[in-house]
Amino acid sequence: MKILVLNCGSSSIKYQLFDIDQGSVLAKGIVEKIGLKGSFLKNERFDGDKVKLEGEILDHQSGFEFLLGMMISEKRGVISSLSEIDAVGHRLVHGGETFQGSCYLDEVTIKGVEDCSDLAPLHNPANLKGIYAMKNLLPDIPQVGVFDTSFHQTMPDYSFMYALPYSLYKKYGIRRYGFHGTSHSYVSKRACEILAVDYKSKKIITCHLGNGASITAIKDGKSLDTSMGLTPVEGLIMGTRSGDVDAGALTLIMEKEEIDYSSLNTLLNKHSGVLGISGISSDMREVETAAAEGDERAILSLKMYQYRVRKYIGAYAAAMGGVDILIFTGGIGENSPDDREKICENMEFLGLEFDKKVNTGVRGKELIISKKESRVTVMIVPTNEEWVIASETRDIVEQMKAGK
Ligand code: ADP
Repeated sequence: MKILVLNCGSSSIKYQLFDIDQGSVLAKGIVEKIGLKGSFLKNERFDGDKVKLEGEILDHQSGFEFLLGMMISEKRGVISSLSEIDAVGHRLVHGGETFQGSCYLDEVTIKGVEDCSDLAPLHNPANLKGIYAMKNLLPDIPQVGVFDTSFHQTMPDYSFMYALPYSLYKKYGIRRYGFHGTSHSYVSKRACEILAVDYKSKKIITCHLGNGASITAIKDGKSLDTSMGLTPVEGLIMGTRSGDVDAGALTLIMEKEEIDYSSLNTLLNKHSGVLGISGISSDMREVETAAAEGDERAILSLKMYQYRVRKYIGAYAAAMGGVDILIFTGGIGENSPDDREKICENMEFLGLEFDKKVNTGVRGKELIISKKESRVTVMIVPTNEEWVIASETRDIVEQMKAGK
């Protein structure tokens, strides 16, 4: 079965074409600067063939025409006809309270995604552009939506509500939803598979530390709490996002700096986080290099970053009444031994005995990094969100075919 996985942004399309039965990626790449000057497509084929094609790509539909044309081209292609694509899986950002899991995209569910656009005005409309364009171009091929939010729909009300007037929840759906659901779900299940333990009886904390970062408490196979909220700004410190801030500080900043809603949004999403504190970069590698050279703000930003993750681990251990497995994933979680070590420092009171030696130098591979006698098993589990989307898409299409 060949499944095309799409992640559509406002001016970009990220894609991967999977041969899911073989467990392989036939081609992957990105169409960038859609509707802007200098648009291009970058593709990498399974055999390592790489190409960058420039062209005038005015909208998502022409971006897809460009990329599908390349997939069937004689020189660069990986399939001989578009009918070889069995299904399309879309990464969708916000499913609100409507979507508890992945779904087949028909008129009703597409309307449901449209209705969630108010909750994610930057993301859902861009995701929808991809759905509309693919419906036009490949009308006979089933499409499936996989939501960043749906894994967290198991959170209980006392965990997802904000202590704001209840009417705001009823009127606008103002509550915590959480994101990175495919990643938290995948790495937690994968860890239990590796350890050969029952997923549904474990207390797990998953740290997804990438440019965006979130941490989730998973109890008995269900998301109990997660650090991102109504939007992906809440919680951990991220590359350019602030994470938790006193709401009172925000109203004060708006008043003092005389800025409006949209400037505040930019400040919180693009100018804050590790970049905002260090003044150097949002890229952890650059900040770590500067810290190693003694840059004080870089050192401070790393300390704040690690401290925030530790605080959440403590909170989630309390929320679940303990923790059995702690997982690191995402670009930083998978590749930064130093951050993992600092985050796990002095956690013996929790029953966590970190193995510094095993952790040192390890990047991007599945590994247990706690000592044998540790009550909490600490692991690195590289995430693979596209693979999860492809397999969910296959499952939904197979269920449909079986008439379920
Ligand atoms: P995204 O959220 O965009 O998918 P990633 O999961 O790819 O992001 O994570 C990107 C982050 O991972 C960047 O801050 C990058 O610096 C960091 N990273 C990647 N490799 C390393 C490394 N070897 N050491 C420290 N940080 C790393």
